[in-house]
Amino acid sequence: MAWGVLMEAFSMAQSKNIYDKQGVKTGEIRGQTIITSTRKFAYGTMERLIKEAGERGFKVFQWCILETIEKHDPAVCKLTPFDEDCKGRCNEYEGYYSFTDTVANRKRLDRDTWDAQWRCLKPSAKGLVYPQFNPLLHVRKLTPDTGAKVILAEDFGFAEGHANVIGFWQVTSSGVKQMIGELYIEGMVDDDLVWEMENKLIELGFIEEKYITYDKEHRKQVRQFYIAKVEDWYCPPEEPSKIAIRETYGYRVTTQTDPEIRRVTFGIPLIRKDLEDGLLVFDESCIGTIGEMGMYPNKERPDGTFLNEPQKKHDNGPDMVRYFYINAYPYPPQVQRIEPCKEEGNETILAGIMDMEF
Ligand SMILES: [Zn+2]
Repeated sequence: MAWGVLMEAFSMAQSKNIYDKQGVKTGEIRGQTIITSTRKFAYGTMERLIKEAGERGFKVFQWCILETIEKHDPAVCKLTPFDEDCKGRCNEYEGYYSFTDTVANRKRLDRDTWDAQWRCLKPSAKGLVYPQFNPLLHVRKLTPDTGAKVILAEDFGFAEGHANVIGFWQVTSSGVKQMIGELYIEGMVDDDLVWEMENKLIELGFIEEKYITYDKEHRKQVRQFYIAKVEDWYCPPEEPSKIAIRETYGYRVTTQTDPEIRRVTFGIPLIRKDLEDGLLVFDESCIGTIGEMGMYPNKERPDGTFLNEPQKKHDNGPDMVRYFYINAYPYPPQVQRIEPCKEEGNETILAGIMDMEF
């Protein structure tokens, strides 16, 4: 269902007052909207609703075939693939749904679809650009290395649904790419974005107490201490005027202009590999990017199968991640990059990295 249509439906719930014969109000029937759905796709309307349930004030109830199936014969169950889900509770059920139909459906469906649509365990990862992404493995509380510098990666955006995303990145001595902070904002002009980026540097602990100021004039005088904390700012090349604004403030901006490297087919495999190897992690505060990494869909064919090519949907955060990779690691496979190495202290060394060709 389209998001807009659903939002329209939400506006229709109406409460009604109850009156007695004398016309005195005795109660109220509260209007409510009840939505039921399976969790068919990780990037579907239902997943977005569940994600936003807290802030929208929805109550979420979840049930699956185990709540609706009828009592059945344990001896028969043992011989069916449903036994794996049932785990011998055959006599405990109080539902109405036919055991025979359940078994027939279990046999027809693959595990992924069954878990998503009949067990309500998880949304299907089918069709995702990053099926490897798992918040349990790739999201945690990270501690910024405030003695080192930070790399910014940005995907430009402004309109609703097209957030401007700035990722704050550091690479550890063991080569783990850490996204330590995020700005994920719609409808903000460039000067304000730069201001908010600097405020985020403060929030993350990169700015010394004596240079922390929220006065615009004073910030100008100490801006060099903010600039000194940013190793590089990766931007897409399409909008030179936006890049110029960031440079006017004194920040160094780098853009990847090689059309081959800018192809999604270059960056996506790098990210998939790092997700598999646990070399890419996100701080739990980066909720815009984390949400989209788990929803970013491939294009779907009319027959329901998927192309290995992303849709332009839920791509703000994932594009920013890709810009980080194609600017920081723009090397074809036969060329190896020497990872930042650990030097004295606990500093992440980001400068002076040497490239070597073999
Ligand atoms: Zn059973």
